[in-house]
Amino acid sequence: KRVALAGNPNVGKSTLFNALTGLRQHTGNWAGKTVENARGNCIYHGHHYCLTDIPGCYSLLARSAEEAVARDFICFQKPDAVIVVCDATCLERNMNLVLQTMEISDHVLVCVNLLDEAARKNISIDLEMLSEKLGVPVVGTIARKKKSLEQFLKQLDALVDDKKDLHPYQVQYSPIIEQAIAMAEPLVKARVEGKINSRWLTLKLLDSDPSLMKELKAYLGEDILDIPELTQALDEAREHLSKYGVTREIMGDRVVAALVASAEKICRDTVHFNQSEYNEGDRRLDKILTSRFTGYPVMIGMLAVVFW
Ligand code: GDP
Repeated sequence: KRVALAGNPNVGKSTLFNALTGLRQHTGNWAGKTVENARGNCIYHGHHYCLTDIPGCYSLLARSAEEAVARDFICFQKPDAVIVVCDATCLERNMNLVLQTMEISDHVLVCVNLLDEAARKNISIDLEMLSEKLGVPVVGTIARKKKSLEQFLKQLDALVDDKKDLHPYQVQYSPIIEQAIAMAEPLVKARVEGKINSRWLTLKLLDSDPSLMKELKAYLGEDILDIPELTQALDEAREHLSKYGVTREIMGDRVVAALVASAEKICRDTVHFNQSEYNEGDRRLDKILTSRFTGYPVMIGMLAVVFW
């Protein structure tokens, strides 16, 4: 089974990748890109996984080479599962990538890593509720501790064996954008059903994302923009957008705003910050350092040490 490992930078993705693949890995570059590529194997309970470590990125909007590589891999290489590794200490920010990945792939496993760091900061996460809200499996890990990976691999097994009942959360865009999607999606779907998520692709086509077109043509073996009915439907949908003042730029902003709002909604009751004990030590230190009577002497003392 082919599995992709995605995540924001610094969430412990490489640590997880190394823990799973050990020495059974090799590195190189993505074809035609200077972005590093690592692949490795992992065998668990009779499953043979080929893991690909896709570049760490914050979104899949293809604004950088890393984002484009990540998006193209998930979209066109069609891995059997995509694992999105998240940082438990700032889960809401990480949801952006999770939601965007779920728009492309219907086999997503969310791995909430750095649970020990979160516990240290008095942050608790209701993983079950998160899984319910997202409609995909969620597993908590501490990538440095191999023991915590057992549960992770079990969930991965169940996901690739299609034992999970998935109802992935769908980001709702503003009504005008939703209407535009509805106008063109049926024609897009007729061409790409079973190959690419038609809702996501329609959104990209409405946005005329040029970075996608070459890969899309190679993947489908045809240029879907050569189909007159489809281009007509897309033009009408774009006209609908511009009638209501939704330019390309405004649409981009609204898409991002909808993602942010969804991330907030999902994390609202799922993540708890235990305020009473939260960083008690830091707060005491703040008090000393910012007090009028002790702050200045401390600052002068520190400057004296620096100059000395
Ligand atoms: P990447 O950029 O996502 O590949 O992140 P890395 O795997 O390089 O990890 C970044 C740092 O976090 C490294 O110093 C890891 O040792 C550390 N790290 C990774 N996972 C965990 C974890 O679960 N708990 C703790 N405390 N540290 C972790």
